[in-house]
Amino acid sequence: MKKEWIKIIPKMIDNLDDISQIKCPNCGECELDYRYIGDDKTRVGFLQMWCNKCLKGIYISRVVAPEKAKFLSFDDELEEIIPDYDFIED
Ligand SMILES: [Zn+2]
Repeated sequence: MKKEWIKIIPKMIDNLDDISQIKCPNCGECELDYRYIGDDKTRVGFLQMWCNKCLKGIYISRVVAPEKAKFLSFDDELEEIIPDYDFIED
């Protein structure tokens, strides 16, 4: 359920450096990671959060990356950093 993932975003934002204590809403393992991807200057873009264990996750569009968040620009090699995971849609 996407709702369950949305719920952990505030937790993630409180722990941007280390989200290793946050459980995956899908499989329950603490293997989550995230990246904000956006424009270098405005930091406006989207958020991807996924689980390295079960390879499920979410995609949230139109967000602003918090200052200390892990951030990639549109020019980065996203596919080298973000695994090919399934988006949870509803
Ligand atoms: Zn998982």
